[in-house]
Amino acid sequence: MKNFPLTSDQLRELIKKFPTPFHIYDEKKILENYQRLKNAFDWVDFKEYFAVKATPTPKIVKILADQNAGADCSSLPELLIAKMAGLNGQDIILTSNDTPADEFQEALKLGAIINLDDISHLDYLEKNVGLPEMLCFRYNPADISNEGNDIIGKPAEAKYGLTRKQIFEAYKSAHDKGVKRFGLHTMVASNELYTQIFLTTAEIMFNLAVEIKEKLNIELEFINLGGGIGIPYRPEQKPVDLAAVGEGIHKLYDEILIKNNLRPRLAMESGRAMTGDAGWLVSTVRHIKHTYKDYIGLDSCMADLMRPALYNAYHHITIVDKEDQPHDHIYDVTGSLCENNDKFAIDRNLPEVEVGDLLIIHDTGAHGHAMGFNYNGKLRHAELVIRQNGEIEMVRRAETIEDYFATFA
Ligand SMILES: *Cc1c(COP(=O)(O)O)cnc(C)c1O
Repeated sequence: MKNFPLTSDQLRELIKKFPTPFHIYDEKKILENYQRLKNAFDWVDFKEYFAVKATPTPKIVKILADQNAGADCSSLPELLIAKMAGLNGQDIILTSNDTPADEFQEALKLGAIINLDDISHLDYLEKNVGLPEMLCFRYNPADISNEGNDIIGKPAEAKYGLTRKQIFEAYKSAHDKGVKRFGLHTMVASNELYTQIFLTTAEIMFNLAVEIKEKLNIELEFINLGGGIGIPYRPEQKPVDLAAVGEGIHKLYDEILIKNNLRPRLAMESGRAMTGDAGWLVSTVRHIKHTYKDYIGLDSCMADLMRPALYNAYHHITIVDKEDQPHDHIYDVTGSLCENNDKFAIDRNLPEVEVGDLLIIHDTGAHGHAMGFNYNGKLRHAELVIRQNGEIEMVRRAETIEDYFATFA
């Protein structure tokens, strides 16, 4: 059973003021998700750096920043969004790849933690911007088994991070260049529901920290285990047992790090697990079409949510006031792009749908609106937040034709 935080009367009242389509987020749910992660790591000095790319809207980032979360940024605009959310200094981490100099510059200006994706970036950073007092490196463990997760894939095939050999060279070289404080980062999973992958990742990272200490006499201040905590997009899937992840990592921390007299802080940069199930795309059925198949045409399209087209991802769909009716019709749920993969669902069992029905696409809070684009002259839609007191606030207006035309020379 998938929930939506408003009753159908509340939703119908809301769309008088904010017509569909829009993404709507539930502040309370975001805070619960954050608290669950914090609780799992309450035995250690832990910080969550919210992955801004998941929901890059300042007032969303601020919901978490106000609870002491930091921000994980991968571009210059994302750094500025973190700043707009009130963050500064080491509450921001720049984890980008193929990084341009101006991004490093802004990160340095903000006093953010810089996480380097490649050994060559050390010289690039030094030459173009200068070296900070603290640096972090992104490790690619190459051979970790990831059970065929197809978003990031096998680490050895992924473009991210330094090899094992490079990691040691990088810390040594940075240390020789005068960098004084160090962190270590990895990110190997994406939308992972399987507990063991997080433990395996932690174990690899903790052992590496011990080796770095033994070989280079460098003590890492923090270890960042990245994001990638999955959410149950399908109703039959189970959420990650974060308490079990925290407990498992605690055990490894004691066995590997404490035993070797190391006590680094831990960090994660979770995006999806904070906002994914706390957002919904609300649309109205514009047309029903019966040809060789039956099609529902919505007032939203792939430009509002491209995960189904990009990853063949499942997003649960419900029809307002018809949740309990028999799902005895089969539809493709489409948008209006001239692109045949503009489909939110293919051959989906739903109740009989009529023009004007309100349709809710679930779990769109992360990597949803964020991945929007303007192909076919489609304009991105608004984002709303249900505040904890029940008030609804627009946190990003819909794009206008003027916005779209603004870059024409
Ligand atoms: C995408 C990304 C994240 C967040 O991933 P989620 O799956 O949303 O948790 C964190 N860190 C880095 C470096 C990323 O690229």
